[in-house]
Amino acid sequence: ATDLNDLADEYLRLAYHGLRAKDKTFNATLSTSFDEKVGQIEVLPQDLGRVLLNLFSNAFYAVQQRQKQGEPDYQPTVTVSTKRENSQIKIYVRDNGTGIPEAVRQKIFQPFFTTKPSGEGTGLGLSLSYDIVTKAHNGTLAVESQEGKGTDFIVSLPA
Ligand code: ADP
Ligand code: MG
Repeated sequence: ATDLNDLADEYLRLAYHGLRAKDKTFNATLSTSFDEKVGQIEVLPQDLGRVLLNLFSNAFYAVQQRQKQGEPDYQPTVTVSTKRENSQIKIYVRDNGTGIPEAVRQKIFQPFFTTKPSGEGTGLGLSLSYDIVTKAHNGTLAVESQEGKGTDFIVSLPA
C-alpha cells in the first residue's frame, strides 16, 4: 500500500527540482490540496510515481515555456490536489502553462508523439501513463486544457 498524498507531494518536489537543476532561473509556485480521506491505496508506488512524475514534468515544462514568453505578472504555478469521492480516488494535476491546442490534444496519448525539441521529450510519458492508469489499475486518465491558459490532467482510480 502507498500513501497517495505523501507520494504526490514527494514527486511534485522531485519534478520541480529536476527542472530547476537544469534551469536555475526557473521559479514556480507549488500548490497542494490533499484530501485526508485519501490514505493508503493499493497501487505500486513505482507505477503511480512514474505517472505523477510524467504529469508533473509536463506541467513544469508548460509553465516554463509560458514564462519564456515574457508576459508581465505571469506567475508559473503547478497544483496537485487529491480527492476521495465515494469509491473513486482522484488526482488533479493543474498548470497555468501554455495549454494544449485542440489538434495536438488528439495525439498526446500516442506513443512517441511529442512537440518538444529532440533531447527534451521522448513522447512516451503520457502513453505510458495512460497504460499504467487504465490497463494496470482500472482507472481513467482525462485531460482538459485551454490554449494560453493551462491544463488539467485528472487521474481516477478505484479506491
Ligand atoms: P513528452 O513530454 O516527452 O513530449 P508526453 O507523452 O509526456 O511526451 O507528452 C506529449 C505531448 O503532450 C507533449 O510534447 C506536449 O505537446 C503535450 N503536453 C503534455 N502535457 C502537457 C501540459 N501539461 N501542457 C501542455 N502540453 C502538454
Ligand atoms: Mg512528458
